[in-house]
Amino acid sequence: MTKFSELGLAETVLSAVSAEGYETPTPIQAQAIPSVLKGRDVVGIAQTGTGKTAGFVLPLLTRLLAEKKQAPGRSFRALIMAPTRELASQIGDSIAVYGKNTGLSHAVIFGGVKHGAQIRALAGGLDILVATPGRLLDHVAAGKARLDLTSVVVLDEADQMLDLGFMPAIRRILSGVGKPRQTVMFSATMPPPIRALADDFLHNPVTVAVTPQARPVDRIEQGVFYVDGGAKPGALVDLMAKHVGKRTIVFTRTKRGADKVAKRLAEYGHGAAAIHGNKSQPQRERALAAFKDGKSPILVATDIAARGIDVDGVELVINYELPNVPESYVHRIGRTARAGATGQAVAFCAPDERSLLSDIEKMMGRQIPGINDAPPLQPGEGKPAKSRNRNRGGGGGRPQGHQGGKRPQGQQGQGQQGQGGAKRRPNRRRKPSGAGQARGAA
Ligand code: AMP
Repeated sequence: MTKFSELGLAETVLSAVSAEGYETPTPIQAQAIPSVLKGRDVVGIAQTGTGKTAGFVLPLLTRLLAEKKQAPGRSFRALIMAPTRELASQIGDSIAVYGKNTGLSHAVIFGGVKHGAQIRALAGGLDILVATPGRLLDHVAAGKARLDLTSVVVLDEADQMLDLGFMPAIRRILSGVGKPRQTVMFSATMPPPIRALADDFLHNPVTVAVTPQARPVDRIEQGVFYVDGGAKPGALVDLMAKHVGKRTIVFTRTKRGADKVAKRLAEYGHGAAAIHGNKSQPQRERALAAFKDGKSPILVATDIAARGIDVDGVELVINYELPNVPESYVHRIGRTARAGATGQAVAFCAPDERSLLSDIEKMMGRQIPGINDAPPLQPGEGKPAKSRNRNRGGGGGRPQGHQGGKRPQGQQGQGQQGQGGAKRRPNRRRKPSGAGQARGAA
């Protein structure tokens, strides 16, 4: 089996990895790290929770160290883009941990907060910038950030970043980045049409697919519970009564739905916090923090929390409503069974969600076992609800794409933006020292 020490990583990076207690690279790390180190464009596909972040952060830090360059003011040598504030912030935390001995600088920028601290962080130049696309473009437009000296770009959750909502912003950013450019894309899902689109931005890429795309980890015990839409609130309360105190994420399709479900759970004595794009940034941060530290064992979320969020010990994921985009299902349930753990996923399926269920099953190439028997559909049932939007993009039910000439929703919708100091991931198994700042030694 490959060891971290055999991958060609810098000593200062290796020492941080071993301080984390990680001995063996995961398969995606073992396979992707050498190619990223060589400067190749890489498309990395691996299941949720299998260490993709370190798969790109560790070789990136090593490459930047080897180049011994300095970033002039307003520029950044490497750019990592992510679809949500929470994920950007979490990547910043990982850079702080893995880069703590390197002296490399990084900052995290996203919308929903004031510009000042971000402008100051950018002003001195950075080794690594983690950003959501909309706020980054704001800084570029204001002359506070420049893209032309960036030579490495990483798209985390790449299929979402290349989807309708984000695509215009990504195109603009990538066209402003200097050449030659190394482009690295990672995700657990990569629908073939999006993969084809990705080629527009890639040069002779190495594809590292540890598992077929869209395959959830086998350690997640999945089940579908057939229930009428109107009976879902009661079914959820019943289900949670059987799982009291378990760290659980309940996914709803809409923001309003998330609030309603959280309120109902609270009425039944469950500690539940809601997170979605209509909440303010401090509210979002508080909800996630309460979930991570166990004050609220239940997080009720839209797809804002479907991707990337890594909280230790999530035992149960409930799809209160099935997602419109089948890939979201894989990401949602991937919040459990991370880093070798096991987990359970229950999908509530109303008659008008049967077609969504079959789309999900088709994509995964397997059926989800029924917890109860599927009742026969009545005439007219089983058709998707008309109001549903089937655009991709994970925007928690809001349509993606351009809206009235405004910025595409991928940048403004519920998932994105915000400023994040690189706080340590509080849920890590080992507690390393040296938390980063919005700008600071990584
Ligand atoms: P990620 O998929 O990058 O969010 O990582 C999922 C979890 O696996 C995180 O909690 C990481 O800290 C952890 N992790 C990453 N790499 C390793 C490794 N080589 N060995 C054990 N755990 C790891």
